[in-house]
Amino acid sequence: MPETIYILSGSNLGDREKNLDRALEKLESLPGLEVIATSAIYISEAQGMKGENPDFMNQVIMAEFLYRPNELLNGLEKIETEIGRTDKGKLKPRIIDLDILLFGNEIVETEELTIPHKQLLKRPFAMIPLLQITPDIEHPVKKRAIAEFLKKSDKEKVVLYKDHVARNI
Ligand code: ADP
Ligand code: MG
Repeated sequence: MPETIYILSGSNLGDREKNLDRALEKLESLPGLEVIATSAIYISEAQGMKGENPDFMNQVIMAEFLYRPNELLNGLEKIETEIGRTDKGKLKPRIIDLDILLFGNEIVETEELTIPHKQLLKRPFAMIPLLQITPDIEHPVKKRAIAEFLKKSDKEKVVLYKDHVARNI
């Protein structure tokens, strides 16, 4: 049986929208994966990164996946490399970053993988697009609606891309 999974795609380097589009295109042809829904693209300021960094564009992709979480991680890393991500250095600008937010209700704690994603409930740029797709989704560990973890002030920090563009014209 396939699991319903959620992937966070992010880019803050180069042609960010194109990078997200390419990642989605490649996800669609990953063996065992079928895309079910995609969120809008949102923009937010880079958090906790050193120096001046371009804003992030983020999108969440909901899919069904036939295989195990580590096989998904391998697939995502392959796509990151194909798109041109060369370093895995944290807190640096990146062409593309593909993270697993949720893998059904599974809880994974290995050296390579933490699922649900460790930072999910601290990251409005992950929660907002996720909740756009599935507003009532529950956190498998907290066993509460993820929407309960979103603060009012968070919503101002994550801007719908189309709105963002319109404001800058
Ligand atoms: P970031 O933390 O900014 O996403 P990287 O993309 O360089 O940094 O990822 C570092 C490592 O995080 C990966 O090599 C992967 O093994 C690990 N990791 C742990 N949990 C997850 C997850 N849920 N999704 C993706 N990568 C994860
Ligand atoms: Mg990552």
